[in-house]
Amino acid sequence: DQGSVPMRQFKKSSKLDNVLYDVRGPVVDEAARMESQGMRILKLNIGNPAPFGFRTPDEVVQDMRHQLPDCEGYSDSKGLFSARKAIMQYSQIKGLPNVDMDSIYTGNGVSELINLCMQALLDTGDEILIPSPDYPLWTACATLAGGTPVHYICDEQAEWYPDIDDIERKITPRTKAIVIINPNNPTGALYPREVLQQIVDVARKHQLMILSDEIYDRLVMDDLEHVSIASLAPDLFCITFSGLSKSHMIAGYRIGWMVLSGEKYCAQDFILGLNMLSNMRLCSNVPAQSIVQTALWGHQSVRNYVVPGGRVCEQRDYVYKALNDIPGITAVKPRAAFYIFPKIDVKKFNITNDEQFALDLLHEKKILLVPGKGFNWGSPDHFRVVYLPRIEVLSEAMGQLGDFLSHYRQA
Ligand code: PLP
Repeated sequence: DQGSVPMRQFKKSSKLDNVLYDVRGPVVDEAARMESQGMRILKLNIGNPAPFGFRTPDEVVQDMRHQLPDCEGYSDSKGLFSARKAIMQYSQIKGLPNVDMDSIYTGNGVSELINLCMQALLDTGDEILIPSPDYPLWTACATLAGGTPVHYICDEQAEWYPDIDDIERKITPRTKAIVIINPNNPTGALYPREVLQQIVDVARKHQLMILSDEIYDRLVMDDLEHVSIASLAPDLFCITFSGLSKSHMIAGYRIGWMVLSGEKYCAQDFILGLNMLSNMRLCSNVPAQSIVQTALWGHQSVRNYVVPGGRVCEQRDYVYKALNDIPGITAVKPRAAFYIFPKIDVKKFNITNDEQFALDLLHEKKILLVPGKGFNWGSPDHFRVVYLPRIEVLSEAMGQLGDFLSHYRQA
């Protein structure tokens, strides 16, 4: 009698209990459900350039075509010689100290390497400083690895720069590393040299490893310069993460890298751990590695998008003004990447749950935004807008958002 035997339930592992990754969370699921019913959703939620008409440079596609027949086998676990050589030269030009071929690891996007690094670094109870708001993969991977993410505040009043006093306050004897995301997702902030220097000083004082996510380093506007924090810290152990997903509009190819720099003696054992995990995954996607040299040193198409008058820059200017023109919304001007993280007046709109706000907007106006909660932001008063769509689409979205807020939950 099979009916009397309770069906076995397969539960997810308890390792995942506290892992949060909501950029693709409940609001996105609801949007997918609505789409499956035939509704058209205006998506301002994901940093994936390809669907918005941003094309990969032709030479990169041509190179991939040309190389593909030679990419059948595994590569060295850290990556192809040609890719690592190109990344090494790029790193040296950015001033990263003490970088050689051995310092470079390619990955299936920066994502794989963030996970690999957290697994190699953190034991249960080890603390790692991560920004709030953050790109939530950092928090998720630190938690999954058994570590304790400790969030330091980025200050909206100060262009969203990291709050150095808050960083200092949160350091304990268990703090191993500090993560910075520069240029930043979700705020679009670009950190000037002085701020980076202050972070280096704190890291030096407390002997912290510096992990810097710089995947947007070539998407910088307003003629500003991107400075790699590792270039300011030859006496500290740093890891710099970057890749081609955003700079070459090839998020789907899956290619990123990390570069170890500075003082490596103190990290010898950790590096053995990195090597072991790198070997265990055999290697990263070889066809994508094969185009790194051409992409990094070829025609930089992204440059044309971010100069004044370029598409990304114009869309940034448009969305920044349009958001600030909506009563109850204020936003700091982003300087890099393609995100803006506006503040909403929660008192005016009686908002206590940002996810509910995003769902209400989705249901009424069919606009998809990610609530601040998805970026480990502690109050329900922010959301992220991706300004990759063209101005006509952004204009429709901003009009609808203004219309929605003109009556939302007001007495
Ligand atoms: N780091 C940041 C700050 C990101 O915004 C993203 C993607 O949005 C990633 C890493 C992951 O990039 P990849 O495509 O290289 O895995």
